[in-house]
Amino acid sequence: MPVICAQGSFRRFHPSFVYGSIPASRDERPNPGLMRWPLFKAGSLFPANAIGVDLGTANTLVYVKGEGIVLNEPSVVAIDRESKQIKGVGLEAKRMLGRTPEGVIAVRPMKDGVIADFDVTEKMLRYFLKLIIDNHVFKVKPRVIVCVPSGITEVEKRAVRDSALGAGAKEVFMVAEPMAAAIGVGLPVETPTGNMVIDIGGGTTEIAVIALSGIVSDTSIRTGGDELDMSIVQFMRKNYNLLIGEPTAEQIKIQIGSAAPIGDEREMEVKGRDLVSGIPKTVRVHSSEIREAIQEPIQQIVDAVRRALEITPPELASDIVDRGIVMTGGGALIRGLDLLLSQETGLPIHVDEDPLTCVVRGTGRILDDEEKYWSVLST
Ligand code: ADP
Ligand code: MG
Repeated sequence: MPVICAQGSFRRFHPSFVYGSIPASRDERPNPGLMRWPLFKAGSLFPANAIGVDLGTANTLVYVKGEGIVLNEPSVVAIDRESKQIKGVGLEAKRMLGRTPEGVIAVRPMKDGVIADFDVTEKMLRYFLKLIIDNHVFKVKPRVIVCVPSGITEVEKRAVRDSALGAGAKEVFMVAEPMAAAIGVGLPVETPTGNMVIDIGGGTTEIAVIALSGIVSDTSIRTGGDELDMSIVQFMRKNYNLLIGEPTAEQIKIQIGSAAPIGDEREMEVKGRDLVSGIPKTVRVHSSEIREAIQEPIQQIVDAVRRALEITPPELASDIVDRGIVMTGGGALIRGLDLLLSQETGLPIHVDEDPLTCVVRGTGRILDDEEKYWSVLST
């Protein structure tokens, strides 16, 4: 017992020493994946009795109370078509997207923002949770908070709950993603002040106005980062007769994509297959072309933000005028989107410094102060 107490207070005063600091973005990490954290082993001596999961359409992140973010993996599963056996999960499976041999398919079970494929989502959640529970020396059944899209149906909720229970959870709670994102950013969600959050994920954009620990209004569209990738695929096909896969399109978006001219134009070489000759070729594309290519989905996001503002109750709208809007999710990293939204709405737009982890950090805060946040949870 005394050992645990000593460790507990040590942990409180020297968290960065014991656990290291979490790198700011995925790209900076040398080897994204579960075992990249040496700290994971340090934490594994203590049971993982409270876990938060951001079950995103593009990425799944897991927070263990007392340890921090221990897992950050793409929400992708590679499956054998015949036997339905899992061939890979996470980064390993994402690398297989568009490259699978016959007989193996790489799927993103949450692709459209809802649980499109229950069975595979369940397998993936089970896999990640088991990985974490099994990596701890003392195995206990943890309490698990799962972040879910706010438009989730009862049937989908049940699927999430059953998979978490099946993976060894003792109790399962759910929290709406924009709420978790707002808590992760550090917004005072429990006060009467209105806060607006725009969370742009892979499959969806969710815009929520939050006050008194509840979502007052919520606008959700099935347009997110994936839609931008698809527009780039189409653009390359139409304008360069070049066939590229979605992972290449995502790379183009991240490297040279922008939502508005920000005075930093770039160029990039893109490799793909020529549609006419059928052989591989390389073309150079300019950031202004990509801006053009993604204009339509970007406009859909802008329109959704406008609609969300229109349905915001006036009292809360005046808070938002004062406080501005916070943008989270990987899609918030598109260069110039904050500028464009602020021009279109006349409101200040703040992008969180690590938008990809806001939601899971929110679950961490909830787990650290359950008394304060219990009312945002549902079962
Ligand atoms: P989800 O919550 O749906 O899992 P995330 O918040 O993890 O989604 O965001 C994933 C999306 O963010 C993907 O579409 C990805 O391409 C996009 N994204 C990640 N980094 C960047 C970046 N630097 N610039 C533009 N888009 C990015
Ligand atoms: Mg998300």
